[in-house]
Amino acid sequence: MRKNLPLYRISNHLKEECGIFGILGHEDAARITFLGLYALQHRGQESAGIVVSDGKRVAGFRGMGLVSEVFNEENLKSLPGQTAIGHIRYSTTGASVLKNAQPFQVEYSRGSLAIAHNGNLVNTAELRSQLEKAGSIFQTTMDSEIIVHLLARSQGTAFEDALVESLLQLKGAYSLLLLTQDQMIGLRDPHGFRPLCLGKLDGAYVFSSETCALDLIQAEYIREVEPGEIIIIDKKGARSLKPFPPAKPSLCIFEFIYFARPDSRVFGESVYLSRKQLGRELAIEKPVECDLVIPMPDSGNCAALGFAETSGIPLEMGIIRNHYVGRTFIQPSQTSRDLSVKVKLNPVKEVIRDKRIVVIEDSIVRGTTSKVRMKNLREAGVKEVHMRVSCPPHRYPCYYGIDFPTREELIASSHSVEEIGKFIGLDSLGYLSLDRMIKAMPFPKDQFCLSCFDGNYPER
Ligand code: SF4
Repeated sequence: MRKNLPLYRISNHLKEECGIFGILGHEDAARITFLGLYALQHRGQESAGIVVSDGKRVAGFRGMGLVSEVFNEENLKSLPGQTAIGHIRYSTTGASVLKNAQPFQVEYSRGSLAIAHNGNLVNTAELRSQLEKAGSIFQTTMDSEIIVHLLARSQGTAFEDALVESLLQLKGAYSLLLLTQDQMIGLRDPHGFRPLCLGKLDGAYVFSSETCALDLIQAEYIREVEPGEIIIIDKKGARSLKPFPPAKPSLCIFEFIYFARPDSRVFGESVYLSRKQLGRELAIEKPVECDLVIPMPDSGNCAALGFAETSGIPLEMGIIRNHYVGRTFIQPSQTSRDLSVKVKLNPVKEVIRDKRIVVIEDSIVRGTTSKVRMKNLREAGVKEVHMRVSCPPHRYPCYYGIDFPTREELIASSHSVEEIGKFIGLDSLGYLSLDRMIKAMPFPKDQFCLSCFDGNYPER
């Protein structure tokens, strides 16, 4: 009899939220959007979708899996039109099922509408219950569907008025792309938690979560969509609305530390350079005597470069990542659970044996994965293993679209730095302080959301 083998997630690191991409005015809109989503794949790997408009008809295709698994020649051909929006999802709200894959698409009293959402609303339960009492029937468990119901119920006669009226009722994080038969709209919530930029390709307007997608399609970067700004694009061109009262800027600092691709600019600034500067600050604030600086690939790479440069300690790629690992891993029985960590990362024994090393990490969440990784390094013959983390300890969850575990599961919420170091099996552990982290950033402290570090939430 065939025995079912246990299936493990490869990583229990923090999960990215979602990525959004859109284009208006291009003959090959669906294919360009496919490429845009491909570049943003790191922001979500559970589902992907594209909705197009040819000016009359709105059509879409969504599926579970990676962009390359969901789309092929055939289904891209079934998406004709000059306007498209796309979404890749890691489920932060709503179950991970196909009906929750975005863009969310409806026919309602004003015509066709599709919506792609990056972020998380914090007043979902309240709005949903109000809408249900008023007769709305929900098709999904996504908070993004609430926006559509608000739009459908709005008293505003013009679409723009209805949109503004609906958005004014939302609380939380939302960078949105909307598509109607003849318009594409890109907007950011008044706090500006999640990034969204505007570009141009051969006269067509493009929106993207990160600039790495613009680079791939060879589009020109124009500017960031500002917090609280709505940009409406149609055949006549682009126009901007700023209908929200002023709000505290709350750019997600973790986009710079971990989430965004290092070759991207987010919020208008280079992720690579910010990350490298975090490493420099870390070397000044938490120095350590050792022989080698080793990045935890790939997210620790840029900070490790900065750490090595400032400390003068040589950098070696002492841990190698297997880039061809899927999202889950079938583990043969009778083998250690540690295998699911090893399958992704493997130490280079010849580099680290008998050496005192400092591993550069971007964050420690539960500490369990780090513990296994450090055990693997010890087994590979390392003499001393130290760890330096390029941000302060994560003590609080995120309500704005990043899949943090509960407060109880975050190891730093209940353990001191010394206790965490001991649990992981380190010779020493050091985190970058909040002030030093800010020093490395391209914006001052009052521009950022720091809630997962300090527990002060700009909106709950
Ligand atoms: S709580 Fe942390 S991860 Fe969430 S938006 Fe704020 S800075 Fe980003």
